[in-house]
Amino acid sequence: MMSNNLSYFDYAATTPVDQRVLDTMLPFFRENFGNPSSIHQYGQHAEGAVENARASIAHYLNCRPGEVIFTSGGTESDNLALRGVAFGMRQQRGSNHILIPPAEHHAVLRTAHHLAKYHSFDLEYLPVNEYGLTTANDVAERLRPTTAIVSVMYANNEIGTINPIAEIGAVCRNNGIPFHTDAVQAAAYLPVDCQSLNVDLLSLGSHKFYGPKGMGVLYVRKGVPFIPQQTGGSQEMGLRAGTSNLPYIAGFARAFELAHIERELRTEIVRPLRDRLIGRILEEIPQSQLTGHPHLRLPNHASFVFEGVNGNDLLMHLDLAGFACSSGSACKTGNPEPSEVLTTIGLSRDWALGSLRLTLGSESNLAQVDQLLECLPHIIQGLR
Ligand SMILES: *Cc1c(COP(=O)(O)O)cnc(C)c1O
Repeated sequence: MMSNNLSYFDYAATTPVDQRVLDTMLPFFRENFGNPSSIHQYGQHAEGAVENARASIAHYLNCRPGEVIFTSGGTESDNLALRGVAFGMRQQRGSNHILIPPAEHHAVLRTAHHLAKYHSFDLEYLPVNEYGLTTANDVAERLRPTTAIVSVMYANNEIGTINPIAEIGAVCRNNGIPFHTDAVQAAAYLPVDCQSLNVDLLSLGSHKFYGPKGMGVLYVRKGVPFIPQQTGGSQEMGLRAGTSNLPYIAGFARAFELAHIERELRTEIVRPLRDRLIGRILEEIPQSQLTGHPHLRLPNHASFVFEGVNGNDLLMHLDLAGFACSSGSACKTGNPEPSEVLTTIGLSRDWALGSLRLTLGSESNLAQVDQLLECLPHIIQGLR
């Protein structure tokens, strides 16, 4: 068991499953366990539950149920979006150009690399500014008639910056180019209306908003050129084969519904705590900087760099002091390479190595925040 005086500051990495979500999932493991593809009543029951979940998710995404594809998580959704459309656009229009910012999550970044390396797509990077933000104008200047897909994340998991997705989407739409956004991190706090965001594809993963791990959704607008990447049965409108993961689908739908209903309430709880962290840390710790945008950022997200501090050592000391935090990237102990996102936004190695990401959520409170604020300056001073 985890020590009960450990404070969790890593909700951007994952969140605990909400009890209400778990209660929704449990009956689908034993009582209502049918295969939705079966003809008999077990199957009909299960199919009804899958389609109810799909309709509910479509309602909150403001799209048609037939445009909601269930996947095994945010990573698969990102992979499927890029590969499905890149190959679809190549087949239909001969397109071969992929446009993404270099600050994307690895699930997008490495998929685009892979498409370039093994399938000879022409990968071009969009610029990002000092906050990791990409503008609609940056996209407009680089779109080509042969662009197969543009992908820009809604909110950055590492530095919290929110991109102008609706504006970028409008530019792509006016040029008839498919546009994908990775909304995996954003969906916990920002509205994900596929119409007002002007997106053709949108990725979600339920464990970032109190749903189960290993469960995702990809929104695919009807009519977008798309070639399935996993073949087999005709589940998911023929776009993603495999027996439906019913308990997790029901869990996703419940978690997504709760995220929508409770969005303002959740935001009001975390935002003042985030602002307190940012204000006090920048004030009290010398040679510290906020990373990401000062106000166009997720309401639960505070991220920093400290000059001349080893980020891994900082995380270990914080853990020993009772605070579970992150550096923001998946950097491994013993391999202290600075995060690509932090070097992309122009930070030198000496700053970028000392990164700290503090993300808040359901169990966060003022006492935990103040304990962390009490400890952090001493730990950093000790490490320097
Ligand atoms: C967590 C995350 C992913 C990966 O989602 P998984 O469900 O963990 O596979 C992709 N993109 C972003 C922005 C994320 O935060």
